[in-house]
Amino acid sequence: MVTTIHWLGNGSGLNLALNNTSFYMKGAGPRLALVDCGFTVPARLDALGLIGSVTDIIVTHLHADHVGGLETLGSLLYYAMRRRGAELPTLHLATDDLAQQLWERSLSAGMAHGSDDANQPINATLTTYFQVSTGPVARIEGLPAATFLPTRHIPNMPNYSLRFDNGVYYSADCRDMPPFDADLIFQDVHFQPPFDDEVHAAYLRLRDEMPAAARKKTWLVHLGNGYENFSPEKDGFAGFVKQDQEFRV
Ligand SMILES: [Zn+2]
Repeated sequence: MVTTIHWLGNGSGLNLALNNTSFYMKGAGPRLALVDCGFTVPARLDALGLIGSVTDIIVTHLHADHVGGLETLGSLLYYAMRRRGAELPTLHLATDDLAQQLWERSLSAGMAHGSDDANQPINATLTTYFQVSTGPVARIEGLPAATFLPTRHIPNMPNYSLRFDNGVYYSADCRDMPPFDADLIFQDVHFQPPFDDEVHAAYLRLRDEMPAAARKKTWLVHLGNGYENFSPEKDGFAGFVKQDQEFRV
């Protein structure tokens, strides 16, 4: 089973020159899974003609550069494309609590006042726009299963990295070291000191503490301002992820 990973953006949430870090996964079957859906993602999907192809969205945590595009994507699919019931995209989250927080603290303000097919007002909920699947493993037909790994990002904020059963690891946003035994590592990174209160993994710490063999299979992403001053290949990494870069695994 070959899976294509296509990066929709590679920027940090505060780097407005780059699009939000997000990718989609596609296999031979009909499912197309987004991993996170930040505020720049719907426009990127539209540019690629893929809005209507999204069947699944895996959510790692609730920062806007990871979930800020869900209102637009969900509304386009529900109102413009008239998706209903089993045709709605499925949100995959690690816990029921995260799904509740996503709705109550993020999406409900703009999406709760909905309308039905007869244009009558309805009290919409998360399940008006999305099918919702919660649990420690996201299973999507035809794609590698994704295990949610609880990791540290912002203190006290629920946060998950993803380990796929085809050997791919994606840190999403976290300050922890990646598992060195993964076959392909996508790691978020930051560049500016000080590093003692970091919320992403510091470039210099990754460079100095990761074994060379692990660095070689590590692509760095979630690029903040100043990333141009670093040369990851010279430091033994695979490189920086580029927008629209594809991997086949
Ligand atoms: Zn974050």
